Amino acid sequence: MRATVTSHTLQVTRHTSQITSALMAGAWLLMATGCATNPATGKRELMLVSESQEIQMGREADADVRKTMGVYDDAAWQKYVTDVGMRLARASHRPNLPWKFTVVDEPAVNAFALPGGFIYITRGILPYLRDEAELAAVLGHEVGHVDARHGASQASKQIVAGVGIALGGVLAPKYKTAFGLAGGGLGLLFLKYGREDELEADRLGTGYAASAGWDPAGMPGLLDTLAKIDEVGGSSRGVPNWALTHPPAADRVQKVQESVSAAKAASPGGTARNRPQLEERLAGVVFGDSREKGMVRGREFVHPVMRFALTFPQGWEISNSDDAVTAQPTGDANATIILQAGAPSGNLQQTADASMLKAGFQRVDGSSRTINGLPFFIGTYQGVIEKNRATAEAGFVRLNGRDDVFRILGVAPEAQFSNVRPAADATIESFRELSQSEANAIQNRRIEFVTVRNGDTWVSIAAAGGNVVKPTTLAIINGEAPASQPRPGSRVRTVR
Ligand SMILES: [Zn+2]
Repeated sequence: MRATVTSHTLQVTRHTSQITSALMAGAWLLMATGCATNPATGKRELMLVSESQEIQMGREADADVRKTMGVYDDAAWQKYVTDVGMRLARASHRPNLPWKFTVVDEPAVNAFALPGGFIYITRGILPYLRDEAELAAVLGHEVGHVDARHGASQASKQIVAGVGIALGGVLAPKYKTAFGLAGGGLGLLFLKYGREDELEADRLGTGYAASAGWDPAGMPGLLDTLAKIDEVGGSSRGVPNWALTHPPAADRVQKVQESVSAAKAASPGGTARNRPQLEERLAGVVFGDSREKGMVRGREFVHPVMRFALTFPQGWEISNSDDAVTAQPTGDANATIILQAGAPSGNLQQTADASMLKAGFQRVDGSSRTINGLPFFIGTYQGVIEKNRATAEAGFVRLNGRDDVFRILGVAPEAQFSNVRPAADATIESFRELSQSEANAIQNRRIEFVTVRNGDTWVSIAAAGGNVVKPTTLAIINGEAPASQPRPGSRVRTVR
């Protein structure tokens, strides 16, 4: 949950997609422009989106990405990624696109591209890069998707299939709630490309990296690391990890080796790894959840910037995305508890009724109460979600002296609601304000470097950092196998 974004509105967020209109306009060209020659592959293919539409599409979605995910607040990293990215872009088949490279403030390990040359990597992937050659590999892969017009081509296929571009739900369905919280624009980022597209992006990316001077073997190195990342280690809350948006990395390794050999033959000068250049920027990089978006700590969600905390039910899985925090019982998608923040419309009860009405829910009962020293309005509402009758227990609360209203919603199909209601009530009643000193005590976790002493293991290094990350994650961050032993005297990455 982003402090800066969430204060806008309590309405169900559904960015009416400007992309949709751009693409639907494109659909009219169906008769006129059937096939176009692909700039990177030279193949003729179905292409309903012109280059200027492609750029326009990217530009509009880029504004959404910046607003929703946020730009990672580190000018040195932004410049470094832009410098490396621009060298790749100049070596690519489409050097004249308005290329833009951005590190977004997301803990997930991922990278993505929008049509038109808008490339993003998450701050979450930075600690997993061994060296600059791997940074060039991941950026080169995304440049490859843009050059081969994979995103634009996907969009064309969707137009032909008559689905417009209903991408709102593409943000891993698990994270999409009944209230359609996933932003429309972001869907374009998580298009699942086919295996052939991925191999092509790998081939193009390794070629660009080598011709711009980097060792193209950065690509298999990175794939190897991504294959090792376990679910828990590489926080996947909110934005899906690479593994969810890409085919299994292991599958690609052999094909990538062929691309690496070809790139080496074509550009024998591509040898730079530049590990020190990357590592000197790595100390201090934020790892995992951040204060700015709130943090999951066991069953608790704490937001030290907005200064509140609440506790979700035992055994529920909590996901923190940019516009909401959601929790679901493990293995049961029917019950959901959702936390959102927004602006008031009148008093708490009016705000409650108005915001629920917007979501299609009518109140059946409710009352005002004081809990943990805070004013609450708690009501039961009924409505319809995707043609099924649903019931919601909704708590609305305001922090003393502040405008924001928080909505905690427990929702389930009508028949199952009685099972969910006690969990929803307990969550609503756990909402409390954090004191300034409690909030100050919650700090971001960051990458640090330590020197390995005799007898150190990944377990002991993780413990010395307060077990903020699992030992296996620590090994993977250092580009090593979880079963390996750190070498005494070497400098390794840790998280504290
Ligand atoms: Zn890809």
